[in-house]
Amino acid sequence: MSLSLLDLSRHHCRWPVDDAHDSGGHRFCGEVAARGSSYCAAHAARAVGTGTQGERSALQVLRHQAMRETAEE
Ligand SMILES: [Zn+2]
Repeated sequence: MSLSLLDLSRHHCRWPVDDAHDSGGHRFCGEVAARGSSYCAAHAARAVGTGTQGERSALQVLRHQAMRETAEE
């Protein structure tokens, strides 16, 4: 399961996934997020710690998107 940015709601996991390059834009996990978290349980566990280079750059993409969302509202 994955969702586009437009499909994401507050309760969806925002972990970026790379399985949909053909559809354009970034895709996100979309599972139900853990309470008080932006990620589902599995991804919240992965978000703890330093992560890989790819995971750190993914977070930068997310922050960028979040800033753009805020600017548009
Ligand atoms: Zn997730």
